[in-house]
Amino acid sequence: MLRITGGKVYDPANAINGEVRDVCVRNGRIVPDVEGGRTIDATGMVVFPGGVDIHTHVAGAALNFARAMIPEDHRRNAPFVRTPVRRGGIGGATPTTYVTGYLYAGLGYTTVNEAAVPILSARHTHEELRDTPIVDKSTCVLMANNEILLDLIERGELERARHVTAWNIWAAKAYGVKAVNPGGVAAWKWGKDAKGLFEPVPGYAKVTPAMIISALAGIVDALGLPHPLHLHCNNLGAPGNFSTTLETMKVLEGNRAHLAHLQYHAYGGDDWPTMRSESVKIAEEFNTRKNLTTDAGAVLFGNTVTITADGPWQHLLYKLTGRKWGNIDVENETGCGVVPYVYKEKNLVNAVQWATGLELLLLINDPWRVYLTTDHPNGAAFWRYPEIIRLLMDAAFRRECLKALPPKARKRTVLSDLDREYTLFEMAIITSAGPARALGLSQKGHLGVGADADVVIYNDNPDASRMFGYPRYVIKGGEIVVEEGEIRKTTEGRGFVVHPSYDEGIEAYLRPLFQQYYTMSFDNYPVEMERIARPEVLTCKAEG
Ligand SMILES: [Zn+2]
Repeated sequence: MLRITGGKVYDPANAINGEVRDVCVRNGRIVPDVEGGRTIDATGMVVFPGGVDIHTHVAGAALNFARAMIPEDHRRNAPFVRTPVRRGGIGGATPTTYVTGYLYAGLGYTTVNEAAVPILSARHTHEELRDTPIVDKSTCVLMANNEILLDLIERGELERARHVTAWNIWAAKAYGVKAVNPGGVAAWKWGKDAKGLFEPVPGYAKVTPAMIISALAGIVDALGLPHPLHLHCNNLGAPGNFSTTLETMKVLEGNRAHLAHLQYHAYGGDDWPTMRSESVKIAEEFNTRKNLTTDAGAVLFGNTVTITADGPWQHLLYKLTGRKWGNIDVENETGCGVVPYVYKEKNLVNAVQWATGLELLLLINDPWRVYLTTDHPNGAAFWRYPEIIRLLMDAAFRRECLKALPPKARKRTVLSDLDREYTLFEMAIITSAGPARALGLSQKGHLGVGADADVVIYNDNPDASRMFGYPRYVIKGGEIVVEEGEIRKTTEGRGFVVHPSYDEGIEAYLRPLFQQYYTMSFDNYPVEMERIARPEVLTCKAEG
């Protein structure tokens, strides 16, 4: 039992905006009142619901590959030493599993969505997630380049495609469906890409990226998944790609969707020397489309490692930078490219990227539909979120930072014209209430009665990066896990899974295809429920 008293509470889902009130906790949940137990005096402090990261990459084969590829990053960052309550590990751009849990909790984040899981390596991903302490976890399974699915779309068999998708979600013990560069990753097997939304994907007569996008968005809605299709649009990172993004929004009309890391999809210009921000056009269009949510995918200057299922993009990035490059192929499903990267203040393209992420966060007018992310570790490591929060809350500081950029960058961006400053209430929306709602996690992102008791208490500090970087207390599921900046207790988070309904007969259809396409036998493919730590199966509200 716990009572947090005297703090200024920001709970946007319940329209509470900085009111001084008590928050009471019993058996891991928020309750109206408690008698006895511990009391935290939060007078003068700020109380938020625990953070929810809607798009991050923290576990799985690709992550492990990235960890192995950047020993220089491990040397740069001091290791996390073992303590009586904490295991040891490595931080930096791709922290090891335990350290990932400690660092997220240390920031006040209590739920994370691992946004890209190949079904074939879902078992490994769940093993790593199980090894990631404190935070609750969900996963999105990659579907937009699965050959069995693309063949069904080619033949117009959308009903069967729905059953195949549902079977795959349950086999991977996933929570949502991710589409990465639809058709482009499939084409990458032959060294090609899929750049035109309405042109057939190489290797297919009819299937276009637009067909894959609308088929999957429709399937996810029809299955009634709590989270809509999670889409990484075509042409990520390419100058001029904003037009593809605008077209994609139109393709999604009539369905829900979440557009991942929008910053990487909001560029104008014809080539790298003319690349510019088109955040204004993207935000204007997005503002009118209430069926969509998005996350920023913001960039910060410094070292990181880029890691995405968008194989062709990563090969291009390797060609552009000459850095190390790794490519994983996951049989017929998907793949992954890994390239270490440094975002430089004096580099015009990087400066435009930095400004574009912030511009989108400032120009999208509804904070309930845009969320704070860096597409960890692509734009920056997640533990640098407090730096972005300060940039959003402090226009004078933002202008100061702009001065360090190449003068040309000012002409390619609009950031210097934007005066908006995020309030604490809006900050609680984009870090917690909004992403929880978009994920369909009704017990997360708020402090109403019945919610999970995930609560963060910050010292009020005019420097937002200090305030959000060092919470005074973090409470996860009713237990105090961080106190005075130290991990005090490590708990095991839950794993959110959905079980959409499908025709059991679909297995007879899939079995021979598996024998033909995959090295793993069909029966070994589905992930057992025992692999998930503290699983919680959410219901789907299927249509009809
Ligand atoms: Zn991502």
